[in-house]
Amino acid sequence: MSTFLVEADTPGLTVGRHEDKMGLRGSSTVPLAFEECRIPANALLGKEGQGFSVAMTALDGGRIGIASQALGIGLAALREATSYARERKTFGKPIGMHQGIGFQLADTDTELEAARLLILRAALLKEAKKPFTQEASMAKVYATEAANRACYRSLQVHGGYGYTKEYAIERLSRDVRVTTIYEGTSEIQRLVIARGLLQAG
Ligand SMILES: Cc1cc2nc3c(=O)[nH]c(=O)nc-3n(C[C@H](O)[C@H](O)[C@H](O)COP(=O)(O)OP(=O)(O)OC[C@H]3O[C@@H](n4cnc5c(N)ncnc54)[C@H](O)[C@@H]3O)c2cc1C
Repeated sequence: MSTFLVEADTPGLTVGRHEDKMGLRGSSTVPLAFEECRIPANALLGKEGQGFSVAMTALDGGRIGIASQALGIGLAALREATSYARERKTFGKPIGMHQGIGFQLADTDTELEAARLLILRAALLKEAKKPFTQEASMAKVYATEAANRACYRSLQVHGGYGYTKEYAIERLSRDVRVTTIYEGTSEIQRLVIARGLLQAG
């Protein structure tokens, strides 16, 4: 398997229709088809036969990016939940003062902080040009799942309003969902982490 850089105007390269996605509506996602494309030898990216390794290396870095995207969405969800929990009153006090809601905010804050540290560790290793495959997968699986939990809890804190388009949490809940899927699913991250663990001395 080899990787190539293909110019967008290459005959045989076609861009399919935009996918109608549940979230990330501001970003387009399209299928690409390559049929009988003729490309010059210097379009080879990396060495011949090393394509899988090139792709995996790109994914390792990308996973830190998606983990960071998830952390951002999770933090926005926590901000929305905290603000709503201060504002909305039931049974004579702001809902955040009911332990059942306050604890959800506390768990979310803690998990997102843990996600931030895992992301920073992977990014520091990458910057230092040290191996970071395992660390990127750990950051990705943890941050994206923590962010999904953050959105789930935040929508719950909003009550019925959370299920309407009036509050930002509705969009955040749709946007966050894909983060455990693209750049390698959660299952694939766990596979990478387990393989590293089993192969280590
Ligand atoms: C919005 C969006 C943007 C995207 N952008 C890009 C892009 O820019 N470039 C690009 O190349 N791709 C892109 N993708 C594709 C994305 O990376 C894949 O959808 C993702 O990697 C999962 O692959 P799949 O859809 O083929 O699922 P499948 O591989 O069919 O997996 C289906 C299910 O089976 C599980 N599974 C599969 N294999 C195993 C296994 N060995 N062990 C346990 N469980 C397993 C998966 O975890 C998943 O739950 C994008 C997808 C989306 C939704």
